[in-house]
Amino acid sequence: MSGARDRDVMYDKNGREKNKIEQGVLYLVATPIGNLSDLSERAIKVLSEVDFIAAEDTRNTAKLLSYLGVSKPMVSYYQHNRTERGEVICERLKAGESCALVTDAGTPAISDPGEDLVRLCAENGIRVTFIPGACAAIAALALSGLFTGRFAFEGFVSGAKGERKKRLNELASEERTLIFYEAPHHLINTLNDFYLAFGNRKIALCRELTKLNEEIIRTTLSEAIEYYKTNSPRGEYVLVVEGGEKQKDDFWVSLTPIQHVEHYIKNGMDKSSAIKAAAKDRGVPKNEIYKEVIKQ
Ligand code: SAM
Repeated sequence: MSGARDRDVMYDKNGREKNKIEQGVLYLVATPIGNLSDLSERAIKVLSEVDFIAAEDTRNTAKLLSYLGVSKPMVSYYQHNRTERGEVICERLKAGESCALVTDAGTPAISDPGEDLVRLCAENGIRVTFIPGACAAIAALALSGLFTGRFAFEGFVSGAKGERKKRLNELASEERTLIFYEAPHHLINTLNDFYLAFGNRKIALCRELTKLNEEIIRTTLSEAIEYYKTNSPRGEYVLVVEGGEKQKDDFWVSLTPIQHVEHYIKNGMDKSSAIKAAAKDRGVPKNEIYKEVIKQ
């Protein structure tokens, strides 16, 4: 980095240090999802300078810190100790210490326990800030080749059979692109369940993102099922599934205005609401529908 650029990065025009670590702040630090070069300068600065690090798995984070040549006190913060440990971390923040929260990989609070700590800090008036970086869901969406304008993130689909089926059926009418996380040993079951709930939609299977074996398979659900009959799923996956077709909302096109109103009454509306709903569907003033109804 040149001297001038270095100064611009580190200091504002009044000579104040940018990115200075503040006391009593929780820093959510995104860490690489496979490629260590993806850690930002700012992330390294925060990890090096905070008072302590809360890590989902301290052994994993110790490896990252050793790669960076950083030595820092750590506490573990994970699924099964998050309630008691969250309180302890909050007390330390309230006493003026600074803390970086890191999870095993990617953006803390996205499908990992970080979300509870953020909520607890917010409830206690503790400032939380974010050091952006890798997030598997967003990387996969960007690579999917599917519509990215609107999407819904679902994380892992529940393992319990009934609950899983119910959730997938609810999602069948979702028009936005869907993003799921999945482990290799569940992949084949999940693809079959997707096919049953969604039909033969397009899917992008994004595997080992940012790693040497990164692979994006853009296909359909039936072809994916076929493919994994002879290929074993390996590594971590993000599944990006095409959204459902736009629901037909012009069911009334073949109905007369009176039939249209009757349809809503049959579905439980009172007469006045039915007239209002039919007028709204047709984009006409409700008086016009009302006149038709009293004519009969
Ligand atoms: N917070 C993380 C994030 O921002 O990406 C996600 C945590 S979640 C517990 C872990 C899941 O993310 C994995 O099971 C996998 O579905 C997905 N994942 C993480 N790294 C990945 C990678 N390099 N390639 C594909 N999927 C990945």
